[in-house]
Amino acid sequence: MIIKDSIDRLITSIDIVDVLGKYITLKKNGVNYTALCPFHEEKTPSFTVSKEKGIYKCFGCGKAGDAIEFVRDYQNKNFIEAVKEIAQQVNFSLEHEQPVKSYKKPEARTKKVSQRFIDHFMSDRCISKSTLERFGITESSEWMPKAQKEIPVICFNYFKGGELVNIKFRGAGKDFKLNSGSELVFYNIDALHGVKECVIVEGEIDCLSLHEAGIENVISVPNGASSGTNRLEYLDNCFQFFEGIEKIILFVDNDQPGYNLREELARRLGKHRCLKVDYPENCKDANNILQVYGKDKIRETVNNASQFPIEGVLTTEDIIDDIVNFYEHGYPKGFKAGISNFDNLLSFLPGQMTIITGIPGSGKS
Ligand code: ZN
Repeated sequence: MIIKDSIDRLITSIDIVDVLGKYITLKKNGVNYTALCPFHEEKTPSFTVSKEKGIYKCFGCGKAGDAIEFVRDYQNKNFIEAVKEIAQQVNFSLEHEQPVKSYKKPEARTKKVSQRFIDHFMSDRCISKSTLERFGITESSEWMPKAQKEIPVICFNYFKGGELVNIKFRGAGKDFKLNSGSELVFYNIDALHGVKECVIVEGEIDCLSLHEAGIENVISVPNGASSGTNRLEYLDNCFQFFEGIEKIILFVDNDQPGYNLREELARRLGKHRCLKVDYPENCKDANNILQVYGKDKIRETVNNASQFPIEGVLTTEDIIDDIVNFYEHGYPKGFKAGISNFDNLLSFLPGQMTIITGIPGSGKS
């Protein structure tokens, strides 16, 4: 694919008179050039070219455009073919997009999880051995950034199209890393083949938690939410998986970075098909719900997901508290201006903009 920028540079660098002069005979006429129109039959020239503006116009048949449009129509080519033809004429080398980034395939870690990890997952996370096996979780020993040495780690293996494309290593004390240089994708993305609904969570353990509760179509973002901007490279790498999906439940963490991520995902995936979940009290993520309330509550939370509100549209529920408050306590008292006649009529509330207006001559003053 030719880079658009490169086409733009070609367009600004070419001289329309030179280009059109290769196909038709142009005659200088004041500041402009004229010719017999190649697009309609004529005896006197009404085809005019402006060297300065880089455009042509025929005052007989109305055809108009720039150098690329001329070559396209005159040679009956498509836009890109016309661009290439002009580039060749003027010895301009068009830049092509680099081929899709090649990613490093991780070396598979095949050691089965030890009993120690299985026990730990059950006691601390309420995640069973069968779920660990189902997700192909393995164990290894890796150099980890926080520990600054080789330690035993759990390997969350990332598959895409059945192929191992990345690994998230996780050691004790939130010490984790992804395989360097490997493709960033959603965890468990293959679960989306042939389904119409899915749930997106914010971590591998949350993904296992939903699976534990019997929800299979669940995927996780690979690198959590950040408090700044969320770079969603993994979404670009997996976009085709969402093509047939009609309903996406965003079950990200119950905190500010989570809400930011939810907004960004909804914006990219389309709010019309996204739903958000309401967390039970005092729960911060899906695994937390599993631990505190159990599997039923996870399913209930997913089933009760609600639509994104349309911006600027309020329902009575959104303003009911205000209305009850007005009814019971009256309209809030505002600040007075200190002008007795005026104060009887109007006061000002902080946090609001007050506009006083009227028809001319109606007695505003
Ligand atoms: Zn014409």
